[in-house]
Amino acid sequence: MQRFLLPYLPRIDGIRRAIYTLTMLAETDLLAALRRYWGYDSFRPLQQRIVQSLLGGRDTCVVMPTGGGKSLCYQLPAAMLPGKTVVVISPLIALMQDQVAQLAQMGIEGALLNSSLTGAEKASVIRGAREGRYRLLYVSPERLAQEDTISWLEKVPIGLFAIDEAHCISEWGHEFRPDYRQLSRLRKHFPTCPIAAFTASATQRVRHDIIDQLQLRDPDKYIASFHRPNLRYIVKQCDARTQPDLLVTALRKHAGSSVIVYSPTIARVEETIDFLEEKGIAAIGYHGKMDTASRRQNQERWMSDEVRVLVGTVAFGLGINKAAVRAVIHLSLPKSIEQYYQEAGRAGRDGDPADCLLLWQKRDTALLVHFIKEMTDPAEQKRAWQRYDEIRSFVEPQKCRHHEICTHFGETPKWKSCSACDSCSGEPDWLAKPAEAPELGRGKPVKRADGAADVDPELREYLREWRRTTAKGSGLPAFVVMHDTSLDELCRVHPKSLPELRRVSGFGERKTELYGQQILDVLKHFRGGARTTETPKKSTKQAEETMRLLAKGHTFDEIAKIRGRQASTVISMVADLVERGKLEFQSGWVDHPRRVMIEEACIRLGVERLRTLKDALPPEITFDEIRLVAARLRRQQSQAPAPKDR
Ligand code: ADP
Repeated sequence: MQRFLLPYLPRIDGIRRAIYTLTMLAETDLLAALRRYWGYDSFRPLQQRIVQSLLGGRDTCVVMPTGGGKSLCYQLPAAMLPGKTVVVISPLIALMQDQVAQLAQMGIEGALLNSSLTGAEKASVIRGAREGRYRLLYVSPERLAQEDTISWLEKVPIGLFAIDEAHCISEWGHEFRPDYRQLSRLRKHFPTCPIAAFTASATQRVRHDIIDQLQLRDPDKYIASFHRPNLRYIVKQCDARTQPDLLVTALRKHAGSSVIVYSPTIARVEETIDFLEEKGIAAIGYHGKMDTASRRQNQERWMSDEVRVLVGTVAFGLGINKAAVRAVIHLSLPKSIEQYYQEAGRAGRDGDPADCLLLWQKRDTALLVHFIKEMTDPAEQKRAWQRYDEIRSFVEPQKCRHHEICTHFGETPKWKSCSACDSCSGEPDWLAKPAEAPELGRGKPVKRADGAADVDPELREYLREWRRTTAKGSGLPAFVVMHDTSLDELCRVHPKSLPELRRVSGFGERKTELYGQQILDVLKHFRGGARTTETPKKSTKQAEETMRLLAKGHTFDEIAKIRGRQASTVISMVADLVERGKLEFQSGWVDHPRRVMIEEACIRLGVERLRTLKDALPPEITFDEIRLVAARLRRQQSQAPAPKDR
């Protein structure tokens, strides 16, 4: 590329030419590092320019929405600055732990320093840091505030400071943390070290505040658009009677996917969990009154996909690094557009479609007004009224929600309407007519909101089981081992060799070394007919309940509704029962002509791989139908005498 372009630039003087060459060189180097460590092929918008600013030693202020890929912006320079350490200031222990674990999986040395460490561990990290052993060192703001920290940090070969969640430094932001104010001292103590601030949430005022407080010097500013086109905003006014049904409808629509439900109070968290349990929807809670261990445990159960629905107060979420969240549902009016944007923005960080549903009630406004009136500081009260007026206007139905958000953050979008909010496209059918069955019906192809419709569900479950076991064995959250997006791509690509696996997004050099062979083996076993093993006790009870409902004449959809499951989950269980000879296949389950087509394909191609059958059959034939028919044939085959006996 450079060689091709350079002859065409004869008029560029020597210096500019040198800069140009350097930039191009840097670009190839950056891409090579991106591929090597992360296993990604390209940068997301602005990432490359931000990395270049940081490598060029510039103070930098980055405003990028959640999911934009901020962490890579400071981690990649860290990987490329041998002998230097990037010191990351981050407010949450869980986030630091996850990031250090993810870095380890990429072969990048990182460490953290916060209150969770013992004295000996701290001493060892400090020693390592002074020796320049870490590319990244995560430090909590409280830790930084301690007097001795600055003196030993001065002996660390610091490449730059990266301040994560930088809006916490501003009283104008909705997540002000007094300990962040300590960061103002950094400039004085480290006058030659570049400082880079990162935030997902900043109005112009907060942005200026960040730059002032951190004393950034002529910083490079990168402000990504706040438009998140993969999010569908749906705002619905309801009352105490209708809200619970709407919540259940939304959760059924997203059955099998990760969802966050935001509740206004701790009491409502508990009530909601109990109510959902009655409806057969498993959910766990998260709020400030729980002890740290239970909070961490619940968070991990949700992160590892053990329980899909998490009901929390606003205490949940800052720094939560789960990319494949398919819906965020609010049960009350947030205090500000910023807060709403931040919380709702935890949906769809993987870039796939996701729903942000705001179910608010008139009485929420009275509560917000009450709190504002109680404020004693007039300046704070004035800010609160301003935020209140903005969020009240946001929930009015006339205007495009995406447009409103972008304008709130100081953008001037050229478009006036989107196709991804209720104001522009109307309420989605599943919400407008909650009495109807959930989205999954037999006879229709299984279409999932997360675009995983073309993924063999058996293989997905099988790989997830491997991921769960592997993550548990190493004490890691499941997504650290592998993101859902990579898992789905594995199902589609079905690599048979390490070089093929390396081309799957998310498999960098180190991750491939760590898990490559295991994953190839798992895929091979799957091809050989291996399937997920469920915990026997739980599955027996569920299977009995399903068989009882079938015997009473209920359809799969009805059973799914009664048991609060996805129809495909019920069908998968039924197929399993058929295969194990516990249940007779019933001809009414699959239309006769379709059944014949599937049986013919099974005879031609074998019954081992549903994916192979699906690819060979017309697209309108669903995985569910194939699974049922194949289960019957698998049963027949297992009963047939072995060839040598014939
Ligand atoms: P933020 O901190 O801005 O919310 P993250 O840094 O957590 O975002 O990134 C969100 C998700 O996007 C993560 O799963 C991350 O691995 C992924 N990601 C970031 N950059 C890229 C890229 N260039 N290509 C593919 N995925 C990326």
